Amino acid sequence: MPNAVSLPNPVAELPEVGDLRAQLRRRGVAHTLDSTRLTRALYSSDASLYRVVPQAVAHPRTVEEAVAVLDAARAAGMPVTTRGAGTSCAGNAVGPGLVLDTARHLTAITALDPEARTATVEPGVVQSSLQVAAAPHGLRFGPDPSTHNRCTIGGMIGNNACGPRALGYGRTADNVVALDVLTGSGERILLDGSESVDAFASLTALKKVVGANLGTIRTEFGRFGRQVSGYSLEHLLPERRFDVARFFAGTEGTLGVILGATVRLVADAPHKLMIALGYASMADAGDAAPAILPHRPTAAEGLDRRIVEVVRRTHGESAVPPLPRGDGWMFVEVVGDDPAEVRARAERVLADGQALDGFVVDDPRQALALWKIREDGAGLAGVSLASPAYPGWEDAAVPPEHLGSYLRDFDALLGQHRLDGVPYGHFGDGCVHVRIDFPLTTAGGDAVHRAF
Ligand SMILES: Cc1cc2nc3c(=O)[nH]c(=O)nc-3n(C[C@H](O)[C@H](O)[C@H](O)COP(=O)(O)OP(=O)(O)OC[C@H]3O[C@@H](n4cnc5c(N)ncnc54)[C@H](O)[C@@H]3O)c2cc1C
Repeated sequence: MPNAVSLPNPVAELPEVGDLRAQLRRRGVAHTLDSTRLTRALYSSDASLYRVVPQAVAHPRTVEEAVAVLDAARAAGMPVTTRGAGTSCAGNAVGPGLVLDTARHLTAITALDPEARTATVEPGVVQSSLQVAAAPHGLRFGPDPSTHNRCTIGGMIGNNACGPRALGYGRTADNVVALDVLTGSGERILLDGSESVDAFASLTALKKVVGANLGTIRTEFGRFGRQVSGYSLEHLLPERRFDVARFFAGTEGTLGVILGATVRLVADAPHKLMIALGYASMADAGDAAPAILPHRPTAAEGLDRRIVEVVRRTHGESAVPPLPRGDGWMFVEVVGDDPAEVRARAERVLADGQALDGFVVDDPRQALALWKIREDGAGLAGVSLASPAYPGWEDAAVPPEHLGSYLRDFDALLGQHRLDGVPYGHFGDGCVHVRIDFPLTTAGGDAVHRAF
């Protein structure tokens, strides 16, 4: 029996919501606050296993109101959790104090410059809305989590979100140009590379931390693309010119609130081809991932039969176009300006993909349907096993050359604990998600979870 873990009580030290309301009133923004039972319940969960009921939720209508709300929260000593769409899988968007909701009103795209290939947005802009605005200029925002039709740019920066096409276009951190942030200590800083470190106590302190730990940061941080958990201190190294805006990506709202962001847009290549590759297993697909990478794919996604079956059960037979033979698949995308070059590269992926079976998907509608399986599968994986499976074991980051053996070992580990799981993920980046059927609703289930 594992030792019981004693967790701190997150609500023990919280101030009264009345104190916060009084501070908001003084600043003329009490109307933004909602502390009704229903709203607190609605904001108590995200896409994770956790439930934390907040004291109250604020829905600022403008950036200025958000600044006033944060000032009031600071004065009242109320902790703040900033929230976009709340699609995080690890409890990132829930908290016991005040939840600051950016998704309801802070949704303006304030500038889009096709020449400079940048867009400036308020934090609650949904990724797909930015895509719609950028598309007429032949541009797109690169990273595209499966939740793109609801997740916000603020939340993407908060999580340093990636998605299938981060393989081709970079992570959110790689696409941040400048951020307008309000730190936890109340400093409003425009992080655009021209900020003066000496003018801000928080930046001065950050620089000191980096200076005192250069060796560790150089050897341990940023070793491979998907090493994105925790603070990405590598962006603060002197040789990277102390890039605080990029560093801010992935800090999950713990250092401050993003009030506005300028992000990079990339050319949306006019010619795209998908290659569907079939393998005996997901692990075999994982083994083949490194062989695909020299062909510069913009996406290389892995999934297994159980996800395909649940899509078929949920959306009907017609939702699943013909697939190559196998029980595990890799979907690869190559893009470019020259159709002949794109076709040649797709054929090389097919030849080098070490697959049992495969084909280039010529019909764009069929390609769309196949990508939709991968996209919907992320949400449906939880119901694809005999018993419910849960999120929480997210974003295992494995250098692609170890992906196949990682998947085999992981399967064996699940077996040892008599658990089952449905892995899927961004194989080109060595990033694996899984939903595991922890018996959380049966007696002793918690112990099984802890033991695993
Ligand atoms: C089915 C499913 C599939 C997913 N697929 C992917 C995927 O492929 N790739 C991927 O990267 N992620 C994925 N995710 C996780 C999640 O959807 C993304 O990370 C998404 O970008 C989060 O955006 P959001 O608006 O929901 O942010 P939220 O969940 O609301 O917030 C995310 C984090 O950012 C912080 N935050 C939000 N707004 C701000 C702000 N203005 N200032 C400072 N901090 C802020 C929050 O406090 C929180 O810590 C998936 C989730 C689900 C449920």
